[in-house]
Amino acid sequence: MTSAQRVIGDLRELAARTSNAEGAQRLAWGPIWRDARAWFAGKIAELGLEVENDSAGNNWVTLAGASSRTVIVGSHLDSVPNGGWLDGTLGVAAALEAVRLHRASPPPVTIKLVDWADEEGARFGRSLLGSSAASGSLAIDDIRELKDRQGTRLVDALAENGVVVDSMLQAHRELKAVDARAYLELHIEQGPVLESMQKSTGVVQGTFGVERHMLRFSGQAAHSGSTPIPMRRDAFLAAAQTALACREIGLRHSSPGAGVVCTVGVVNVEPKIVTAVPGVCEISLDQRALDPVVLAGMLRDAREASERCAHENRVSVDWHRLWRIEPRPFDPQLLRLCEEAVREETGEAPSLPSGPLHDAAEMVPHMPVVMMFAYSSNGLSHCKEEDTPESHLEATIRAYLRLVDKTVAHVARSS
Ligand SMILES: [Zn+2]
Repeated sequence: MTSAQRVIGDLRELAARTSNAEGAQRLAWGPIWRDARAWFAGKIAELGLEVENDSAGNNWVTLAGASSRTVIVGSHLDSVPNGGWLDGTLGVAAALEAVRLHRASPPPVTIKLVDWADEEGARFGRSLLGSSAASGSLAIDDIRELKDRQGTRLVDALAENGVVVDSMLQAHRELKAVDARAYLELHIEQGPVLESMQKSTGVVQGTFGVERHMLRFSGQAAHSGSTPIPMRRDAFLAAAQTALACREIGLRHSSPGAGVVCTVGVVNVEPKIVTAVPGVCEISLDQRALDPVVLAGMLRDAREASERCAHENRVSVDWHRLWRIEPRPFDPQLLRLCEEAVREETGEAPSLPSGPLHDAAEMVPHMPVVMMFAYSSNGLSHCKEEDTPESHLEATIRAYLRLVDKTVAHVARSS
C-alpha cells in the first residue's frame, strides 16, 4: 500500500465511524468528536507514541528528533454538523502519515503533530478556538458567556472535556516553549478555483484579511399607498443600492491571481410590513482581500458608496464594525518549498489565497507558515457532498509529504 492510499484508508475509516447518512457529525466537545479523537489516539498508540493535551484542549503528538528545532504538522478533527469527510481530517491524516514515515528512524529535527480543538466554532460561534488560545489572541472575556442552541454554556461543555476556560491561554505559554520553525497544514480548498483549473493541488499564499460591518440605514417608515415615490425616505433602497455598489467595488479591486470578495449576507428591514415603506434597513458587509492596501481601499470605497446611496434616498447611514482580522500572508521560504513540492508532483504549482480562515492563520505571527490546498469537487464543503476525486487526493497527499520532507531538511540546515 502506498502512503497516499494509507491516508485515504484512514480517512474512510474515520468517516465510517463518525458520520451518518447526513454527513460527518464530529461537532467539537461532543461525544462523536471525542470518539474521533479516540480513533486518532489509537493510531498514535500503534506508533508507540502518545497524545498529549495542552490547556486549550488541543491534541499534540511529539516525535523527538536529533534537534529540538520543530516542524509542526496538522489540522483539526472537528466538523460542522452534517459536514464532509475531508475538511480538517485530511490535514490530520496526512500529518499522521508524515509521522509514521519518520517513525522508523529519528528525524534530524523534532516533528509535532497537532489536532486543534474546535476549529469550526459550529456550536458556540467562535471559530479557531484552540489555535487562537495557543497563539494568545483569544480574549477569554469574549467567550465566557457563550451558549449553544440548547442553552449549554461553553464553560461547561469545555469542562466536560477537561478544559478550564480561565486556563486556556496557558496553551500559549506551552506553545512558546516549543522551538517551532515551521507550521504546515494541508486542507481541502472548499472553493471552486482548483477545480476550474483542473489542478489537484494549490499553494496557498495566505489567508484573506476580513472587514466585517453592519450598516444601518435610517429613513422614515410611511404608508405605501399614500406616499409618492419622490417623497419617500426608503432605507431599504439605499441599502440595496449600496449592496450593488459593493459588488462593483469587489470586481474593480480584483486582479488576476488576487481576487477579492465582498458579501451582503444579512438584510433586516423595519417595520417589515408589505404596506409600509421601510424606515430602517440593516445590512451586513463582509469584505476580504489578501493585500492590506486593497482591503483598506475596498472599505473606503464602500463607505463612500453607502453615503452616496444614503444621500440619494434622503436617509442616513451608520457603520458598526463586527469583526476584523488583518491579512496573513504565508512565509516566502516555505512558499518556495511548497511550490517545489507541488510542481514535482503535479507539474505545475498554481497559487491561490484562502478565503476561509484556518488554524494556520493563527500561527502566522509566531512562526513561518504555509498551507497546501486539495481540489474540492464542485467547490462544495461543510456538507456531505464534500469530496476530492481519489486521483487528485493521492497527488495532493504525495505533494504534502514531499513538503514535510523538504521542510524538515530545510529546518535541519538552518541554525
Ligand atoms: Zn477546516
